[in-house]
Amino acid sequence: ASAAGGHRVVCYDTLLDQQSGTHARLAAELRHALDDGEFHLLYQPIIDLGSGHVTSVESLIRWQRADGRVVSPADFIPVAEETGLIVELGAWVIDTASAQAADWHDRHGPHAPKVAVNVSARQLLDPALPRTVAAALARHSLPPHRLTVELTETAVFGGGPALATVRALAELGVAIALDDFGTGHSSLSLLRTCPVDVLKVDKSFIDGLNGAPEQEAIAVALSGIATSLHLRTVAEGVETAAQADRLRDLGYHHAQGFHFSRPIPADAVDALLPAAEPA
Ligand code: C2E
Ligand code: CA
Ligand code: CA
Ligand code: CA
Repeated sequence: ASAAGGHRVVCYDTLLDQQSGTHARLAAELRHALDDGEFHLLYQPIIDLGSGHVTSVESLIRWQRADGRVVSPADFIPVAEETGLIVELGAWVIDTASAQAADWHDRHGPHAPKVAVNVSARQLLDPALPRTVAAALARHSLPPHRLTVELTETAVFGGGPALATVRALAELGVAIALDDFGTGHSSLSLLRTCPVDVLKVDKSFIDGLNGAPEQEAIAVALSGIATSLHLRTVAEGVETAAQADRLRDLGYHHAQGFHFSRPIPADAVDALLPAAEPA
């Protein structure tokens, strides 16, 4: 941009240049970060509201840069999706989470936590995804039902190739969870066409618990639908004991949120599990 365009125009052009420069730089840095091993997974406990035990964990990716700064997935997953790097990054997540799930399974047997992985819309459009998952299960000798794949309604919406991929995943025997349930396009009709095991009810509905009755109505209705369809429910973003108590009363099976635990490293999850029996 040249100063001839006037001050405002110059600023605008410069801003655009900076933004696309930042985007391209981030895309290149993600590539190197994957090669240099700068990603790791944290695991957030999912609690059985009946027993209070940790029955599964959700893996959540973190990027720790060479200078020590940790970048949130909200800041880099969208870029990884746009560039397609999410396919390779997602395969790393699936393999790493499967290895961890197999390690817990070896040491804790039936009491080991199941492990959930997030799979984005772009990954679901990759016809090789079921093969990637099957390879990870085989490599780590992980029974398929120990792995849960979390998808959003929006990613599956519209059927077609994404729905075919979900069906192929379900055929492998992994559990399918609908993430952020209630915030997408197609919530209820999707339950007829898509093989679903778990509904993860979005935090926005949990936030309204113990408020006005109409605030609770959707959380109540979703629990009812899940029960009649024999789906398991996970309430997301539970931040208070009062919410947890109310969810138990409403028949929710599982809950996840800062009230129970933030996302933590795998060895910190170990400390929450009953002591492993000696081999
Ligand atoms: P998500 O799948 O809905 O994950 C839940 C997010 O809510 C996590 O944020 C978690 O730290 C946060 N959270 C959990 N409990 C609470 C709570 O009680 N209160 C509040 N305010 N927040 C809570 P995080 O780890 O920053 O991840 C953000 C999103 O990034 C995830 O949303 C998911 O869409 C995406 N993501 C994370 N890891 C991966 C991954 O490995 N692959 C893909 N494709 N996406 C990922
Ligand atoms: Ca999730
Ligand atoms: Ca299933
Ligand atoms: Ca979620």
